[in-house]
Amino acid sequence: MKKILNLQCVQCGKEHTTRESDYVCNSCGGNLEINYDYKLINKRFDYDVLEKNDNYNMWRYVDLLPVEEHKEMPPVQVGWTPLYRLDDLAKELGISKLYIKDEGRNPTGSIKDRGSAVAVARALELGAKVITDASSGNASDSLACLTSSLDLKTVIFTPKNTPIPKLVQLYMYGAQVIRIDGTYDDAFELCKAASAKYGWYNRAAGFNPFGREGKKTCAFEICEQMQWEAPDKVLVAVGDGTILSGMWKGFTDFNKLGIIEKMPQMIAVQAEGSAAIKNAWENKTEATAVQASTIADSISVNYPRDAYLALQALQESNGMALSVSDEEIITAMKELARKTGIFAEPSGAVTYAGLKKLVEQGAIKKDESVAIVVGGNGLKDIGAAAKAVDISQVFVKPTLEEIEKLGLVKEK
Ligand SMILES: [Zn+2]
Repeated sequence: MKKILNLQCVQCGKEHTTRESDYVCNSCGGNLEINYDYKLINKRFDYDVLEKNDNYNMWRYVDLLPVEEHKEMPPVQVGWTPLYRLDDLAKELGISKLYIKDEGRNPTGSIKDRGSAVAVARALELGAKVITDASSGNASDSLACLTSSLDLKTVIFTPKNTPIPKLVQLYMYGAQVIRIDGTYDDAFELCKAASAKYGWYNRAAGFNPFGREGKKTCAFEICEQMQWEAPDKVLVAVGDGTILSGMWKGFTDFNKLGIIEKMPQMIAVQAEGSAAIKNAWENKTEATAVQASTIADSISVNYPRDAYLALQALQESNGMALSVSDEEIITAMKELARKTGIFAEPSGAVTYAGLKKLVEQGAIKKDESVAIVVGGNGLKDIGAAAKAVDISQVFVKPTLEEIEKLGLVKEK
């Protein structure tokens, strides 16, 4: 693949060809990052090419993705999700400009569709017959969706805490589901071992560098939707760290190609009960495992698999990391729904909870623009959403007299 220079180990720097490894460094086991030939890419991809492109989905940026073909993929639209500018809410919070990138509008309701799309395209290029993943739901749901109509068997390892709606999606798309009596980390390790033993293509986040590349397209879209500039601050929910590192790479790509000049500051928001990256950032150490426990299942990880690049993104962007409690997440879900109409799952509302905290701390300057990424739709974890509201109302008899007793507002 000409546009790819190499797959470079983030730890020891060793360069690999695409034939040598698709996952991790064959010397030290470190994660790989895909390096591109930007001079070559610049010859066929620039601002003008994008302006004329009326293909409004993530594949409009295929020149900056590590695959050539994607025509076999199902017709569902991945990417080009709305970026809302919310002036009233910004004013209420006391900030200058607020944007919300609603990733719940992807086909399976989460940002993970972007990573899965690239991983599936890559698996097809390699002629894989089986693709596998470990996930608490979103990443696997998207993989099951995008392979549903293909001749590519999909084997999914799910941890015990997988919310039922996410599980139902997997079965609906026809994936082979293996429910593990254990955590996400247990599912991840078993998936890795099985894919090595049986030769399956492994999409697992923080292990497969191709998936990370798909997340870049969310950053590309934010820039394009803001008329070719990046916001001052971008808030991303962080579990494994792949969305954070992927989006930072997207902004970096656009900067290298001269499409944007100013780079954003990346802000990692974690759940208090799963804050390995925030801890490492504050203590200036490598990430170490925690015992993860949070309502936000999508970002509930003991050991973050993409910590190195996530921490590098914070370093390079002069970023920040913070955490929010489950209580703050539940409040944020309700507030976000009522103030914007966006129904976010817990990990989606984490960024809004983080934004409120930063405002309280005075960490956002008056003239700064802020974009928060809402990574997943609230219908994907309805059990968690039910904790934010009271649905215990007793039934009323279907008569107007009963309604009278409720003392509702009368307009005449
Ligand atoms: Zn290495």
